[in-house]
Amino acid sequence: MTEPAPYTVRGATGDWEIVVGLEVHAQVTAASKLFSGAAASFGAAPNTQVSLVDAAMPGMLPVLNGECVRQAVRTGLALDAEIHRVSRFDRKNYFYADLPQGYQISQLFHPIVGEGHLDIEPDGEAPKRVGIERLHLEQDAGKSVHDAHATMTFVDLNRSGCALMEIVSKPDLRSPAQAGAYVRALRSLLRYVGSCDGNMEEGSMRADVNVSVRRPGAEFGTRTETKNVNSVRFIMATVEAEARRQVDVIEAGGTIVQETRLFDPDKMTTRAMRSKEDAHDYRYFPDPDLLPLELTEAFVAECRASLPELPAARRARYTSMGLSPYDAAVLTAERETAAWFEALLTDLAIATGKTADALAKPAANWVTSELFGALKRLGLGIEASPVAPAAAAELLALVDDKTLSGSMAKTVFEAMLDTGEGASAIVEARGLRQTSDTGAIDAAILIVLAANPDKVAQYQGGKEALFGFFVGQTMRGMGGKANPAVVNDRLKALLAT
Ligand code: ADP
Ligand code: MG
Repeated sequence: MTEPAPYTVRGATGDWEIVVGLEVHAQVTAASKLFSGAAASFGAAPNTQVSLVDAAMPGMLPVLNGECVRQAVRTGLALDAEIHRVSRFDRKNYFYADLPQGYQISQLFHPIVGEGHLDIEPDGEAPKRVGIERLHLEQDAGKSVHDAHATMTFVDLNRSGCALMEIVSKPDLRSPAQAGAYVRALRSLLRYVGSCDGNMEEGSMRADVNVSVRRPGAEFGTRTETKNVNSVRFIMATVEAEARRQVDVIEAGGTIVQETRLFDPDKMTTRAMRSKEDAHDYRYFPDPDLLPLELTEAFVAECRASLPELPAARRARYTSMGLSPYDAAVLTAERETAAWFEALLTDLAIATGKTADALAKPAANWVTSELFGALKRLGLGIEASPVAPAAAAELLALVDDKTLSGSMAKTVFEAMLDTGEGASAIVEARGLRQTSDTGAIDAAILIVLAANPDKVAQYQGGKEALFGFFVGQTMRGMGGKANPAVVNDRLKALLAT
């Protein structure tokens, strides 16, 4: 396999390489907020999930939510990252109408999680390992609602104080495809771990996209940071548009200034928002209301023990069971899909008495073609599949023991979807049993051959493409119930005579 050429932006003066680092904000899955007991769920009526702490009433004290710490550590372990046994919370001071405290509690100097990495598989490019710089815990701000009234802005504090993990990548990404693959892999990992629901439409995951350009191999250029981009497609578009803009500026003799930009989804471009503030503008200092956070060895060990099998490990296991890398990737991308497939394999192993290894390939083929096809037609996710893994196992066991041919299984599956009945019941009721009886099959073949003497002559004269015609006619004569392998064998034998 040849290495694909590195992705470059073509300019008037030559090629440019893109450098990207992503800061992903992921809302922690937890019943309550990072420092208060208010609910952290999405979609409640405005200002109904606000404690006195979240509203920053004088004299209120933050109390750290242990579940958020646990989720951050579990996520850090899943990223193969260093877990810092001591971390600390800092105040990041700034004024904004939806930030009643006047500061955000974050972890600048001593984050809970240090360096790690994430393996990605970008479309059309070689797989790659991306460095993780850090993961820290911080509070979310409230939300300003500008479009509900002509002259007023409303503030909704439901989100104020919700726990975020900020996951910062190293500037290792080199193309829009890599940026997209990174966010997809991270989202999948968070959902496996269960530390974030990854719901980008609801804002549970959003990215600040840092982009710069350089001549291939040269020093890094000046970066811009495009804030709060909330879909994989938009993140890729941001990289593309921003790199193009920077190349145009530089080639026209200008320089890139470090600044914060906004993505415009209507134009699919970025525009300047404000010049870049630096850490010293925020007057960071350790939050005097919170003690340093110390983790015990036992706590970290317990977090590690609670992790499920992660996507990369599961993918490797599936390919070792004979699945193609593509099928393994498709089946492991979403935790729900992998769980469904695992349940099917278990049930099928019980039904057939065979090992999961022996069953994985046909089961994967069936899931990725028949089941995915049906779910797509029905517009359903796998978690809402009308056919459960146990019911699918009953169907595939009938294929495995040759009661059903592949095409009969399709018919039975359709009937299962229509009626909700089990495969065996449908097979009994409709008499859909495949036969390997050579007597009956030979009789059907001889009828077909007698009816088509011209085609038989052509076939015997070398036109082998006609074989499929004979198979089709014989199967039709058998009402679709003949074992196709036996039909093939008998046809070959009878046509040779
Ligand atoms: P800040 O808080 O100022 O944005 P961080 O260190 O938190 O700084 O994040 C910096 C992000 O920018 C990281 O994701 C890093 O990989 C990325 N980055 C740093 N330098 C460059 C560069 N020259 N080009 C593109 N991305 C960069
Ligand atoms: Mg930043």
